[in-house]
Amino acid sequence: MNNCGPCNMCCTLLGIRELRKPPGRVCQHSAAGKCAIYADRPTACREFQCLFLRDGLEMQYRPDLCGVNLHQLPDDHVMATVHPEFPDAWRKAPVNTLLDRLVMAGQRIIVALGDATFLLSENMTLQKVKVHIEEAA
Ligand code: SF4
Ligand code: SF4
Repeated sequence: MNNCGPCNMCCTLLGIRELRKPPGRVCQHSAAGKCAIYADRPTACREFQCLFLRDGLEMQYRPDLCGVNLHQLPDDHVMATVHPEFPDAWRKAPVNTLLDRLVMAGQRIIVALGDATFLLSENMTLQKVKVHIEEAA
């Protein structure tokens, strides 16, 4: 079973409505890579699991190592949120291999690059779509 280890990427990439925290900004409660309000953190933080954590993906897919945070959306799409410092991470190894495999298996994937969202198709092509990405879970 995977654990977060030193990763705290969701505390930066995701939006947390309860905190009025926008996506892509380090959470105001993140201190030295740890949560300063861990015992009282919002429900969205308690319940959030990226696919690395939930599905036991290989270590190379831990979000802080690969630059992309994959998580399940309520409508069965998977969101691939790309760290702004590594905007090409989604199309480079090892993430491209995983995304390609998922698309070929019929999984619909939304790639989030900053404020823009795209539907990922075969051959790693992107089609712009509008998706609400304010809330983590
Ligand atoms: S992105 Fe995943 S592995 Fe990283 S801290 Fe969040 S839940 Fe844990
Ligand atoms: S409240 Fe804690 S767990 Fe939630 S985003 Fe902020 S630092 Fe991360």
